[in-house]
Amino acid sequence: MEHRSGFVNIIGRPNVGKSTLMNALVGERMSIITNKPQTTRHRIIGILSGDDFQIVFSDTPGLIGDPSYKMQKAMNRAVQSTFEDADIMLFVTEPGEKYSEEDPLVAKLSSSEVPVFVLINKIDRISEDELKRHREKWEALLPKAEIRSISALKKWNTEKLLEDLLNRLPEGPAYYPKDQLTDRYERFFVSEIIREKVLELYKQEIPYSVEAIVNSFKEGKTREGKAIVRIEAVLFVARKSQKPILIGKNGQAIKKLGMEARKSIEQFLEKKVHLELHVKVRENWRDDEQYLKQFGYLE
Ligand code: GDP
Ligand code: MG
Repeated sequence: MEHRSGFVNIIGRPNVGKSTLMNALVGERMSIITNKPQTTRHRIIGILSGDDFQIVFSDTPGLIGDPSYKMQKAMNRAVQSTFEDADIMLFVTEPGEKYSEEDPLVAKLSSSEVPVFVLINKIDRISEDELKRHREKWEALLPKAEIRSISALKKWNTEKLLEDLLNRLPEGPAYYPKDQLTDRYERFFVSEIIREKVLELYKQEIPYSVEAIVNSFKEGKTREGKAIVRIEAVLFVARKSQKPILIGKNGQAIKKLGMEARKSIEQFLEKKVHLELHVKVRENWRDDEQYLKQFGYLE
């Protein structure tokens, strides 16, 4: 039996459904899904393995026009690199988005050496006529690409897409052990869950100024002999004035954050969790290369 494997990279503007699609395809909770733009800042990898195949997916950060922060420049570099190491590119778009022939991304996709799939997502929201118009538009813009219509949320046509991807993958070995869902550690997902809760619970600039790092992750037993994971995480804020906001009056805000995060982490790990949160100030981490490296924005 021949074995197929390869790297499938998912790109597209923020909020078109890239993370939802990856979750639909990999079937596990992998990346943050929220309505706020630019929340998936990392390049997250999900791995789908079968007896005779392995697909390594990555979900790239949104494409950002104006690189004003170093962080955004790092994101644009990630988008660039996504074209370089892919076996297949999945370009996700949603009805209503405007792209022209001159768009740099369209140009990049049309000159891509690897197969490109254009995925018109969220078709559960549009009529057949509208869909037909979108298909025709993309067929004209990217004549070499495979155009597919899907609903990542409702998993319409996603199984079929997976089959097509498998057919287009080159012959190759498994790059990762077959039982490994992802090459990042559970603690990475834990930090993403904490960040997701910060996004849900705090307003304005706080969510975008906070980075969560899990610095201790220990599996143990409770006194009654039940499995428990003891987690310690640090929340870094970019300014001193943000620390009291994060903590809240009498620690109420961070207590709520801790509780909500713990519940989600317990669901994700399917184990009892004890979670301890600390807050630290790191002035202007978003413009500091060393911290960007530490937080995984730069390689
Ligand atoms: P990303 O920024 O590209 O990763 O987008 P997300 O996966 O985070 O999705 C953004 C929003 O679009 C979320 O509210 C999703 O629930 C929603 N969404 C994603 N796929 C679909 C879809 O097929 N249909 C509908 N109606 N909503 C979708
Ligand atoms: Mg996303």
